[in-house]
Amino acid sequence: MNGPSASPLAAASPRDALSSAMTDPFGRTISYLRVSVTDRCDLRCFYCMSEDMTFLPKADLLTLEELDRLCTAFIAKGVKKLRLTGGEPLVRRNVMTLVRSLSRHLSSGALSELTLTTNGTQLAKHARELADCGVRRINVSLDTLDPKKFREITRWGEIDKVLEGIEAARAAGLGVKINAVALKNLNEDELPDLMRWAHGKSMGLTLIEVMPMGEIGSGRIDQYLPLSLVRARLAQQFTLTDLAESTGGPARYVSVAETGGKLGFITPMTHNFCESCNRVRITCTGTLHTCLGHEDASDLRKPLRASDDDMLLADAIDRAIGLKPKGHDFIIDRRHDRPSVSRHMSVTGG
Ligand code: SAM
Ligand code: SF4
Repeated sequence: MNGPSASPLAAASPRDALSSAMTDPFGRTISYLRVSVTDRCDLRCFYCMSEDMTFLPKADLLTLEELDRLCTAFIAKGVKKLRLTGGEPLVRRNVMTLVRSLSRHLSSGALSELTLTTNGTQLAKHARELADCGVRRINVSLDTLDPKKFREITRWGEIDKVLEGIEAARAAGLGVKINAVALKNLNEDELPDLMRWAHGKSMGLTLIEVMPMGEIGSGRIDQYLPLSLVRARLAQQFTLTDLAESTGGPARYVSVAETGGKLGFITPMTHNFCESCNRVRITCTGTLHTCLGHEDASDLRKPLRASDDDMLLADAIDRAIGLKPKGHDFIIDRRHDRPSVSRHMSVTGG
């Protein structure tokens, strides 16, 4: 579709806004919400955060009750898939209360999937309860299997905790997908082994290109490894067959004949995936970002707190969806070796 059609968003009355579907000006229906429940993290992955991050004052955060209300408003407006992320979602105090409470939307059938993206460090503690709450699969971020490199990437993380978390998740019956950022000179040689390891445990692996988000104290050009190159190298060793499936998101998948597993590529820099984008993101302060690669932001905390019914909120959501941009603005090259988007990935959770 080329341009905005007449606003599909204007609800007939404020009450209609509570349940009207969210369709953006380019005809894309929003059915996937990613919620960053905290900007804090127990790691400092060098491509994600600077070492001395300033985190939000706790008083600025939405309470867990407010996050629940916000998610529930989106579910009423057609969100079917909800992903909790961060920062590190499992470091938010009492986050399982939120998961448990949101699981009522799975029981009612309003939500078809509740999931999370985690660095895995706290997973051993929470895996069983996540499964009890109806979470079926999760994404765990892990860029290397080498403890020393893991510490280098995360600045102080211990890989054993993550591996323990992954095993606890598998033992609890959760499906696990590994996400790894492809990093020039760091894990590029290890990617075939990482894939064999993941597939050997029946876990999918998705590779991600570094995205230029937030000041991190070093240039992106040193980290950026195009996945087109990674794929070409893997294709010399493995038989990769494109899979037709699409999640409406940025990942493209192949099957790997030799391992029997699935490999995903998230290529914001070399492939544009915006046409089929079905997702929006909210931060832990209630800011709605309708595109990961834009500075656009709408405050939902104010309408959320302004009244006990959700009409102002639903109206604010509709207005924000009406401004969803057509596509992202990411560029990394020698002339543009600085953030395209000033917020860090940990604000929106990827
Ligand atoms: N802490 C959790 C984790 O690491 O899975 C959730 C939040 S983290 C921001 C979500 C994902 O974003 C992780 O897979 C991480 O590797 C990825 N990520 C962070 N910064 C990135 C960047 N600049 N470019 C590409 N991916 C990034
Ligand atoms: Fe933390 Fe995840 Fe960012 Fe790493 S990628 S610093 S684990 S939020």
